Amino acid sequence: MLFIPAPRWYNIPEVMIYMDTKDIILQLRTKNGLSQEELAAKAYVTRQAVSRWETGETVPNTETLKLLSTLFDVSINTLLGSPRQLVCQCCGMPLDDSSISREPDGSFNEEYCKWCYTGGKFVYTSLEELTDFLVGHMSNEKFPPEQARAYLGELLPKLNHWSRDRK
Ligand SMILES: [Zn+2]
Repeated sequence: MLFIPAPRWYNIPEVMIYMDTKDIILQLRTKNGLSQEELAAKAYVTRQAVSRWETGETVPNTETLKLLSTLFDVSINTLLGSPRQLVCQCCGMPLDDSSISREPDGSFNEEYCKWCYTGGKFVYTSLEELTDFLVGHMSNEKFPPEQARAYLGELLPKLNHWSRDRK
């Protein structure tokens, strides 16, 4: 994974609470007032399958994770215990469930932040446009525009959204 030193305006949670998928599913289920049977019905699995997730015997498959993500309105990364620090592949901002973009149908798109990808469309059409925008927001007395520009010039082209375009 790419290591990105984040400038101050990026909002990173200070303490990352690490949890296992089993604890997360149990917590989400109880928080939503569902019994194992009820969750099983909504996820199209057996009650035994839910029980096995919650004891940590098994982890839901990809399709079921997507379903649970929609059902509980949390990202798949969160369901898996946040094994990765997601980073917007357009602007480099670290992501959490409140800043992850969504598809027009409401499902999470864990590649991008909600400011770069909105309503199924990318907000910035070029690297230059994004750079200008970010420089305007990042720079201050301690982080002058030239420095911000150099920082972004190094960071942004490495992100998938821009490196894909520039093969
Ligand atoms: Zn972004």
